[in-house]
Amino acid sequence: MILYSTNNKELRVPFKEGVFNSLPADKGLYMPVNIPVLDPEFIADLHKYSLPEIAFRVSKAILNGAIPETDLKAIIDDAINFDAPVVELSEQINVLELFHGPSLAFKDFGARFMSRVMSYFLKEGEQQLDVLVATSGDTGGAVALGFLGVPNVRVTILFPKGKVSPIQELQLTTNGQNIRAIEIDGTFDDCQALVKRAFNDPELKEKFRLTSANSINISRLIPQTFYYFYAYAQIQRKGFKEVVFSVPSGNFGNIGAGLLAWKMGLPVRQFIAATNINDTVPAFLRTGVYQAKPSVQTWSNAMDVGDPSNWVRIMDLFKGETADLKKLLTAYTFTDEETLNAIEKVYREQHYIMCPHTAIAWLASKQWLKDHPVESAELVFLSTAHPCKFPDIFSKEIAGNIEVPLQVQELEGRERLAITLGRDFEGFKNYLLDS
Ligand SMILES: *Cc1c(COP(=O)(O)O)cnc(C)c1O
Repeated sequence: MILYSTNNKELRVPFKEGVFNSLPADKGLYMPVNIPVLDPEFIADLHKYSLPEIAFRVSKAILNGAIPETDLKAIIDDAINFDAPVVELSEQINVLELFHGPSLAFKDFGARFMSRVMSYFLKEGEQQLDVLVATSGDTGGAVALGFLGVPNVRVTILFPKGKVSPIQELQLTTNGQNIRAIEIDGTFDDCQALVKRAFNDPELKEKFRLTSANSINISRLIPQTFYYFYAYAQIQRKGFKEVVFSVPSGNFGNIGAGLLAWKMGLPVRQFIAATNINDTVPAFLRTGVYQAKPSVQTWSNAMDVGDPSNWVRIMDLFKGETADLKKLLTAYTFTDEETLNAIEKVYREQHYIMCPHTAIAWLASKQWLKDHPVESAELVFLSTAHPCKFPDIFSKEIAGNIEVPLQVQELEGRERLAITLGRDFEGFKNYLLDS
């Protein structure tokens, strides 16, 4: 598998380099030179396969020999070891639950696959890889649990003190082994600034092999295609052929992976990008002008993004042809008030509890059906996280009815292992140098 930079098609690197560097030097994003189209017979037969079987076939096609088959199969079986069921909620409306992994969010797909691919490429005797991540909640948990116990890799996570939910904090701070958690007396932006400075610090770069395991890493994008194929397989089992996906979107990596799956031959009638009031992309589709904005805080905070980093990948997939893109992609935007009302309504009517991000995708699928009353298509909205990760936003009644999954209950008695540091770079740097 060969990658190019979206800023320069001639800048080409092998898959391994894209995995360790995340970003090309020219600050574009890596994209595959060849996007294979899967055998139509395989697509027609998807319903016969399990999620790991689908993941293996899809990754084998796109990686095109970058990892030998037996090793790839082992990576898939280890990384994709939890289910992604499609649950019917009401007529024509289904939810794809992506929160059954260890951190209870869809980011587990990307983080678990990336960590195993990195570990595979680290040859014996090579210097330990040091992963530095700043998190506002979800990414850190997925990365920590994704890398937990992975040989020859150490992870250091920075999170803002008092600004992640209790469950997120447990997921970040109770791991031990090769995972270190640092609570920063500051904001998420402070955490991010510290990590950025560390990557540019000559002394740290000299002593450690640093990597960011960033959300725009190509090895996080690829595994996110798997569940689109698997969701389609489950829709086939219900006897339908047409599917519309509604995706809660922030940095547009999740929906970007869906569009990549479509490019690989998955028959999708329509993609819906569902955003909160950070509506840069919906505004672009409406006006044709892409105007990045400062992000605004909402209840669906994992989607508070004013300049989605994966958008250039999507434009690249469509070679900048906005007209073609608009045929396949619709976008809707919703307020916090609409989000809370949706959670309440679906709880009352369907006895189903959605996290705020998921609620926005539900709203968007309802809106699309209103605008396009079709009977032939099944709508699948993606549930990106388990509601128990966002306890503050629910009414007492709803909160009391959320079932906390076993993997979280197990964390509750564990020892908290975080250290606390200030926002100054020297303190953080000295901590790293001393370890
Ligand atoms: C990260 C995240 C999103 C946004 O996904 P993108 O790939 O950035 O568009 C949505 N919901 C949850 C719960 C997330 O953690």
